[in-house]
Amino acid sequence: MIIAIDGHSSCGKSSFAKQIADELDILYIDSGAMYRAATLYCFENDIIHAGKLNVDELVQSLDKINIEFRKVQYSAKQHVFLNDKDVEGEIRSLTVSSMVSEVSVVPELRHRLVEIQRNYGDNQSVVMEGRDIGSVVFPNAEIKIFLTASPEVRAHRRFDELIAKGENVSFDEILENLMHRDKIDQSRETSPLVQSSDAVLLDNSNLTPEDQMIWFRDLIKKVKK
Ligand code: C5P
Repeated sequence: MIIAIDGHSSCGKSSFAKQIADELDILYIDSGAMYRAATLYCFENDIIHAGKLNVDELVQSLDKINIEFRKVQYSAKQHVFLNDKDVEGEIRSLTVSSMVSEVSVVPELRHRLVEIQRNYGDNQSVVMEGRDIGSVVFPNAEIKIFLTASPEVRAHRRFDELIAKGENVSFDEILENLMHRDKIDQSRETSPLVQSSDAVLLDNSNLTPEDQMIWFRDLIKKVKK
């Protein structure tokens, strides 16, 4: 079974997908982590310089960017590796967030990452979350969910998460960053963020993680009938 979860930035897709994966005992893939790892590569190799992305250089470097998920002993979750280095922590910084949507616009990068994402769905059940999973990566997914929440609720969740990690950020810059990412994600030419016509919409602004799972169990029952 393929379960696709798409939606706006910071609306809790990862936590929801992880809960589903745990409950059904299936693989969980966070496709955003792959775009974040590619962005980290750009920062580390001067492909992003003074806030500007050099698209030609990124395209020429694609063969040197190896991104994969690996199980690690020190965590229950799969971590994303960039050229054999665990970058799961580094990719969540506001610096990476500030440029990830610009990097994600590049069609050549998208094609390469979509190929890897599809391989994870070969012969196994997977819950994958991102922006184009139901529309492009797995258009035939059995379950498609489009998740959203109000911008303020989303910014609060992200802010609390980053503060808990010790990052020095303000609520306003988080809100601005997620509105900025939504705008680019929704308006880009290649695989923009859209709700597929066969996706079920869930606004989780006022739902607890438990409420969300109750909603999901109901959905899966209907799909299996
Ligand atoms: O999901 P997350 O917020 O970590 O994703 C980071 C960024 O990666 C998004 O803002 C979006 O620009 C990009 N992305 C994408 N397609 C996906 C997943 C993420 O373009 N399938």
